[in-house]
Amino acid sequence: MLAFGLVRALPRDPLPMHRIYLDHNATTPVDPQVVAAMLPFLSEIYGNASSIHSFGQQARAAVEQARESVARLVGARPAEIVFTSGGTEADNLAILGVVRASQAAQKHVITSRIEHHAVLNACQSLETEGVEVTYLPVSSDGVVDPASIRAALKPHTVLISVMLANNELGTIQPVTEIGKIAAEAGVAFHTDAVQAAGKLSLDVSRLGADLCSLSGHKLYAPKGVGALYVRAGTRLVPTSFGGHHERDRRPGTENVPGIVALGRAAELARARLATEPARIATLRDRFERELLSRISDARVNGAGSPRVASTSNVAFRFIEGESLVIALDLKGVSCSTGAACSSGAIEPSHVLTAIGLSPMDARASLRFSFGHANTEADVDAALEALESAVRHLREISPVAPRNPRSVPTAS
Ligand SMILES: *Cc1c(COP(=O)(O)O)cnc(C)c1O
Repeated sequence: MLAFGLVRALPRDPLPMHRIYLDHNATTPVDPQVVAAMLPFLSEIYGNASSIHSFGQQARAAVEQARESVARLVGARPAEIVFTSGGTEADNLAILGVVRASQAAQKHVITSRIEHHAVLNACQSLETEGVEVTYLPVSSDGVVDPASIRAALKPHTVLISVMLANNELGTIQPVTEIGKIAAEAGVAFHTDAVQAAGKLSLDVSRLGADLCSLSGHKLYAPKGVGALYVRAGTRLVPTSFGGHHERDRRPGTENVPGIVALGRAAELARARLATEPARIATLRDRFERELLSRISDARVNGAGSPRVASTSNVAFRFIEGESLVIALDLKGVSCSTGAACSSGAIEPSHVLTAIGLSPMDARASLRFSFGHANTEADVDAALEALESAVRHLREISPVAPRNPRSVPTAS
């Protein structure tokens, strides 16, 4: 990818800088309390949770305690929680596991165009197995219409998968309504709640979800651990093969330190739910208000929908998003583009094109995602950096109207 080469070629900062991290939807730092909880399981308590001796028993007890904490976060019973290697595996296990468990000759899956690639690419892989998949469009504000789900149902629909909060826009999907439609139709319903955990109160019964994915590293636990809620009675076959771990749903020696960390992170998330999302919403609202008043030709993507507090996705017209990310990073502010890079070409984000942005506006969009450590001072410093970086990039942009060297554009 072009941008990586550019970053490498730049000289190192001579002075240490206070860096502001605004990319919590990509990953979060591990909470110190989570580190403290998991550390003993990397050193003294190293037993295999399947061993019958005391080392194993200690590990087993810790895994089961973590399972209770994760279950409590989503309103489930501990036996309904399957630990995985992360959100991607949880999504894959839910989708492939439920669809392959069905013996029907014809199978159909309904999902949306704004899902994470862990869902979209799992569905695409099912298409190669002969499964029919409907990828529903979304509104210009990034929300799936429940009526379109109902209209897409077929007699052979076996699964609906719609995320709870979108990772690029933060938009909250009408999951409760979709859950009702799924229940009425007798179709299994999966929701990817990776970006909702810790930001919204989660209750799988209220949501009507039969399956629900979580990821540790979006929740102040480490990378490489996650969980899938599987409602008791939901038919699911494993997607990998080995021992009898996780009640025959997911084989492999348990990642005890990771699982302990996820359990502790789930407890902290639950305890912080009463205050932290509201605090972060205040920061995000201040950021957007100030940004729109100080920077012209900017719009907040998905602003017309309910959104989780942490996420702000902004299109800065006439700017190439990757350049703005790099310019901001040099000023000590880390955020990201909505765009994913594939085989050298910068493809515009599938989420932003799904809400109707032109490829150019999609490439001009940046995602800012706030978290626990962020303060009002961070927001103000980020705004300063943003204002000057946008001004500079527009001065040199060949398509910006205020640039004397600019060329007329079709937009
Ligand atoms: C990050 C993310 C995932 C993938 O989780 P990993 O633990 O990184 O595999 C899945 N879905 C959403 C919405 C995400 O944001």
